[in-house]
Amino acid sequence: MSETNDKAGAAKPNLSAEVLEFVKVNAPRVALVHARVIDGAGAPAREDQTILVRGGKIEFVGDSGAAPPRTDALALDLRGRTVIPGIIGMHDHLFYTASLNRDAQGRVPAPGPLVTEIAYSAPRLYLACGVTTIRTTGAIEPYADLNVKKQIDGGRMPGPKIDVTGPFLTGAGPFPQMHQLTGPEDARRMVRYWADLGVTSFKAYMGITRAELGAAIEEAHARGLKVTGHLGSVGYREAAALGIDNLEHGPIYTDTEFLPEKQPDVCPPLPRLIEFWAKTEISSAPVQEMMHDLVERGVAITSTLPVFELGVPGRPVLQQRVLDAMCPESRTSYLTARARGVFMGMAQSFPWELLFRKEMEFEYAFAKAGGLLLAGPDPTGMGGVLPGFGDWRAVELLVEAGFTPIEAIRIATQNAARYLERLNGIGSIAPGKDADLVVVRGDPSKNIEEIENVEIVFKDGIGYDPEKLIDSVRGQVGIR
Ligand SMILES: [Zn+2]
Repeated sequence: MSETNDKAGAAKPNLSAEVLEFVKVNAPRVALVHARVIDGAGAPAREDQTILVRGGKIEFVGDSGAAPPRTDALALDLRGRTVIPGIIGMHDHLFYTASLNRDAQGRVPAPGPLVTEIAYSAPRLYLACGVTTIRTTGAIEPYADLNVKKQIDGGRMPGPKIDVTGPFLTGAGPFPQMHQLTGPEDARRMVRYWADLGVTSFKAYMGITRAELGAAIEEAHARGLKVTGHLGSVGYREAAALGIDNLEHGPIYTDTEFLPEKQPDVCPPLPRLIEFWAKTEISSAPVQEMMHDLVERGVAITSTLPVFELGVPGRPVLQQRVLDAMCPESRTSYLTARARGVFMGMAQSFPWELLFRKEMEFEYAFAKAGGLLLAGPDPTGMGGVLPGFGDWRAVELLVEAGFTPIEAIRIATQNAARYLERLNGIGSIAPGKDADLVVVRGDPSKNIEEIENVEIVFKDGIGYDPEKLIDSVRGQVGIR
């Protein structure tokens, strides 16, 4: 494969020297020839395709024999490679559980659990792994997230396109980095303030009340912005009735509505929820009613299987490049937690594996019933799920859940663009769309793990070098 740079000598003037260090293909016209194409829209993989890129947009995609000749284009022969659309990560924070920071007794000391903004390493890892658009799905340092987006859009740092989600909308809880809402008017004020500063979505969290959630949704919708939630105090159907657009994680770890002791606006203890779902069948009538209610109301669900895989003993398989990306303390924190077998504060003797299977079963059934399923890694939990690498794992786990590789890739691309109402620009490989394209060695339609063999990541027609981006964050995840 040719890696000749910039045939026409026309570097995009708006990319800084720092960004250009990571660029390996940069020409006004690029022809990707003899590639296998998975279009993200659900069509079967097509062999020997040509994609023509011009001015950052896809100009043509079709059989190589039918492609218009482009003698002025930089041609890359992609035999043996597959091109998929840029991944759109829908639970892709710019922060990370850098350290569990427990004391000698295994307790989390005051002020409570902390996460670390990784505004330097996360955008590089997302882009390196072919994630060309993210939704941050909750901000810990919202000013930093907004400024990172500005720097990336301005060509001053490498990274994906970003839908910046506002700071978490929640009530009482153990997280000292979150504001605690004092009522519906406070929720409205928060939505207005952050929307004015450029936030483009909101996320409700475990301690929000129905009144606060309803107020936040109303205020966000009035501005054409969407609201998602990782709920606890409010049940799935209550939130759906209030007009929520999206629910994070799926019901097994977050839908409390079926607990007999559930008090309105109060989040029951997690062990109780886990106990309930361990003995509840996805095929049971109440769960099916809830699922169909969400489908009918058009509420999307975000699959975050990678963060829950952490609970399953012996999983995920450790990858050296993932460990290498972490700073020493983060690596030790993760490996220690993994060895101790404690997940979300509970021992691995909990039926985590059963719950993980049930979540997969629910997500598959939800999508097959017509629900809009999205995906993202959620780089939190006990650590070990990293930006980018975790997005690959999210797609692989959807295949383990029963989806075909083509379906799983569509969930991570076109479904997300549909939710974001950006189908005109991103989400599939079609003429007129942004040239956000991932070149991978091998054939992920046959073996989904080959999605990890990323060779070039195009964002708006500029081809970035994944190895250089990954090298640049070695030992940094957890620090910056
Ligand atoms: Zn999250």
